[in-house]
Amino acid sequence: MFDFYPEVNLSREALLEKLAGAVKTSRFEHLLGVEKAAISLAKKYGVDPHKASLAGLLHDYCKEVDDETFLALIDKYDLDADLKNWDNNIWHGKVGIYKMREDFGLEDEEILRAIEIHTVGDSEMSGLAKVLYVADYIEEGRAFPGVIEARAVAAQDLNQAVAFETMRLVDYLAERRLTIYPQTFEAYNAFIGYLK
Ligand code: GDP
Ligand code: FE
Ligand code: FE
Repeated sequence: MFDFYPEVNLSREALLEKLAGAVKTSRFEHLLGVEKAAISLAKKYGVDPHKASLAGLLHDYCKEVDDETFLALIDKYDLDADLKNWDNNIWHGKVGIYKMREDFGLEDEEILRAIEIHTVGDSEMSGLAKVLYVADYIEEGRAFPGVIEARAVAAQDLNQAVAFETMRLVDYLAERRLTIYPQTFEAYNAFIGYLK
């Protein structure tokens, strides 16, 4: 475990306290679960475990932020206007990173980028981004149909795990007649070849 996170100038204890104040208990447990899975994947796939730890802990920090705050941040930072057509599911990562910059002074671009795309993926993903994306899906608290298979794939190959998760996500969203964020399709197209 890491005692101090220079990227946010906080001890682990102070960071956890901040997170516990920002999200409900079940989500706080999820953050710890994603951290644990991300550290394990990072060690396996040659990614910096410290960055994986911090990205895992922070990734859903903005999940309980209200819509007005996100809409104001989209204006304040002059972000892609299309974001306003989406909701918290997309905003807590893509817009959330701007609040994390403000609230934590976080400037580590690799961590910010990984958190930015943790929900939707992307055609280009760093090792850290892949680790966070997969860890979010397979952490020990997850119990949806298919998670056991996803964990097995993640134990074999990181790119295959990204592909598997994205395939299942597109399938899940389409099954429920939900709109699919374009970047989700970009991730699907870029990674699906790994499953062939
Ligand atoms: P969580 O924050 O740990 O719950 O997980 P994620 O950040 O990965 O996903 C948050 C929510 O966004 C989940 O309910 C996903 O199903 C949903 N989601 C992910 N991608 C898309 C998308 O392209 N379109 C829509 N409408 N929802 C999505
Ligand atoms: Fe999330
Ligand atoms: Fe999450």
